[in-house]
Amino acid sequence: MTPLHPETLAIHAGRQSDPATGAVVSPIYLSSTYERDPDGSYPQGYTYSRDNNPNRQALESCLAHLEGGSAAIAFASGVAATLAVFQTLRPGDHVILPQDVYRGTPALVKELLQPWDLTSTAVDLRDPTVLKAAIRPATRLVWVETPSNPLLHISDIAAIAEMAHGSGALVACDNTWATPMLQKPLDWGADLVIHSTTKYLGGHSDVVGGAVVVGSQHPELAQTLHRIQSVGGAVPSPFDCWLILRGIQTLPYRIRGHCENALQIARFLADHPAVATVHYPGLPQHPQFDLAQRQMKGSGGMISAQIKGGSAAAFGMLARLQLFTRATSLGGVESLIEHRASIEGPGSQTPADLVRISIGLEHPQDLMDDLAQALDKIELAQT
Ligand SMILES: *Cc1c(COP(=O)(O)O)cnc(C)c1O
Repeated sequence: MTPLHPETLAIHAGRQSDPATGAVVSPIYLSSTYERDPDGSYPQGYTYSRDNNPNRQALESCLAHLEGGSAAIAFASGVAATLAVFQTLRPGDHVILPQDVYRGTPALVKELLQPWDLTSTAVDLRDPTVLKAAIRPATRLVWVETPSNPLLHISDIAAIAEMAHGSGALVACDNTWATPMLQKPLDWGADLVIHSTTKYLGGHSDVVGGAVVVGSQHPELAQTLHRIQSVGGAVPSPFDCWLILRGIQTLPYRIRGHCENALQIARFLADHPAVATVHYPGLPQHPQFDLAQRQMKGSGGMISAQIKGGSAAAFGMLARLQLFTRATSLGGVESLIEHRASIEGPGSQTPADLVRISIGLEHPQDLMDDLAQALDKIELAQT
């Protein structure tokens, strides 16, 4: 059979009618424990819900199919998935992180893993020569996030993978922003894919979760991550898994809407006199536009914009918005906007005039009207 398309996989992968009742939509198996046969065996293969349960198994199977990996391991959050990847390393190992990256990733390395003797270097992964210089004999992992948060930098996964593998390091790619609908990191040579399923995969801002997908060349790594999941215990509940799997069914169509809306709004923002800079990989003026076009099937739903007049003007604009909700996070059907530096807190490298926008699935004209009324009131200094 020819391989199924993503739209079909999103609906069918990992799913079957409930064998006990014929229910077309899987029940949520809340049971924490599973009955043994008199001979001590577990006839259905389930023993205890932390080790595995039908809802988690269905979600993991679907995620593995969507990313083209051999296994997916679900966690209670995106950062728990990230932590699990670092827990496969040993004291003394060295990792390379991007300079522009989801804030929780370097926080986790510094706060939790540095005391366990994991060392790290942050580099600008847009430039492969910088990566080459940063690789040490102890480097075991290069962490990639593309598009990056919040500056929408694009990194060349294939070039990074070639360089990392040449030095004996693996590549893990946080694919939360692109989703497998727009980018398949394993196809570009990455070894692991990480998701915050809280975002586009869940898609409705009503569940927190994460996952690691493992490339088929690393069965032993998949086993290690399964052990970290069941022994470490940072597992998602069956209901969480059910919600994320439910969200994934519409992922391909939601992503189309997010991309379509975001491109229109990015163009609108780029033309607005109160906007200094727009960061969106779908605009030809983006420094890595060509790479983004090559590596991604669409430019995604995230935009960052730097507002003229700095932090005060940005806050003023946020206060006037009616349709956009002022909240962190992303990937839901509703549009969210935030002043990124203040949510990242002290030490943030994010420009003070930057707002990060998660473009939802409202009509783009309504969103542009709302942005226009909020931006039009910014007093521009006379030039
Ligand atoms: C949100 C996010 C995370 C962390 O995920 P949680 O589910 O909040 O733990 C990691 N990476 C990226 C790119 C994110 O946007």
